[in-house]
Amino acid sequence: RPRILSGMQPTSDSLHLGNYLGALVNWVGLQEDFDAYYFVADLHALTVPTDPEVLRHRTRVTAAQFLAGGVDPVRSAVFCQSHVSLHAELGWVMNCLTADGEARRMTQFKDKTAKGQNANVGLLTYPMLMAADILMYDAAYVPVGEDQRQHLEITRDLAQRFNARFGDTLVVPDAYIVKGSAKIQDLQEPTAKMSKSTSSPKGLIDLMDDPRRIAKNIRSAVTDTGSEVRYDPEGKAGVSNLLVIHSVLSGTPVEEVAASFAGRGYGDLKKEVAEVVVAAVEPFQERMRGLLEDPAELDRILADGAARAAEVAHVTMSRVRDAVGLLPAA
Ligand code: ATP
Ligand code: MG
Repeated sequence: RPRILSGMQPTSDSLHLGNYLGALVNWVGLQEDFDAYYFVADLHALTVPTDPEVLRHRTRVTAAQFLAGGVDPVRSAVFCQSHVSLHAELGWVMNCLTADGEARRMTQFKDKTAKGQNANVGLLTYPMLMAADILMYDAAYVPVGEDQRQHLEITRDLAQRFNARFGDTLVVPDAYIVKGSAKIQDLQEPTAKMSKSTSSPKGLIDLMDDPRRIAKNIRSAVTDTGSEVRYDPEGKAGVSNLLVIHSVLSGTPVEEVAASFAGRGYGDLKKEVAEVVVAAVEPFQERMRGLLEDPAELDRILADGAARAAEVAHVTMSRVRDAVGLLPAA
């Protein structure tokens, strides 16, 4: 089975609906056909200054959420990025292949710094570490959300550059944008993506939130001054976002969902979207309660996943060391 890999950052106390619909749901499906490596990107999370105790908590919660969402740790390796320290080593090699201006042009870096996030060098070189994460596993495909397309492009560039300079060493991965996979927008600012680190609490649908609060956030979602429920992401970003959320969770094409609201108003749409979201979130929260009751079992799963990942990583890194001219490690 071809190998795939994907990760999420432990940058908040819970994943949000965008992570769930744009990524986690796809991860679960992909386990059927791929040898999957799913990791908590704790090294990436260090780009946002965080209290150590909080980071530890978030890392465990994120891993548990993979499992609550349906990732099977027997079939797929579930691990923490920092437990396979070769990620950082290959990240360094990638930094040394990247031009300064190339890193500064990345949209995510520009967006996050524009929002006033303090721009440490880790944030700037985030895409190089992400390239390392991917290239480490000879992944043929990387399931990423639309928001990560540009980072995957630079990963491909870096792999090709490496191979051109040092000979064929790294597998050039393809994006695996799962068909119909959704990009979820911020509820308060529907032209921006829903994001753990930049959305306001009211802009987010946090998977662990009280269902009543989730419903309230959806009811106060920003729409527009019109009244027609229609799918038009350019002209009606807020309404279209609600339609997409409904569509993915109800398994109904977005145009069909829109048609079912013909002659009804935004209030009805919000009410029904809230119902659909709460129905998905409640059983997820129930599974999370079970998982967090047994932290030792969770740590065991992560240790097992890291051991499986490290086996692959060691093979890739010795190829890389050899190619670039580092002496083999004893
Ligand atoms: P951060 O703001 O800290 O970068 P994030 O919300 O973007 O957090 P990540 O951990 O960077 O979350 O991404 C985890 C996965 O979720 C990735 O595959 C990413 O493509 C996907 N994802 C993130 N936000 C969205 C969104 N709004 N819609 C769909 N998919 C998303
Ligand atoms: Mg992100």
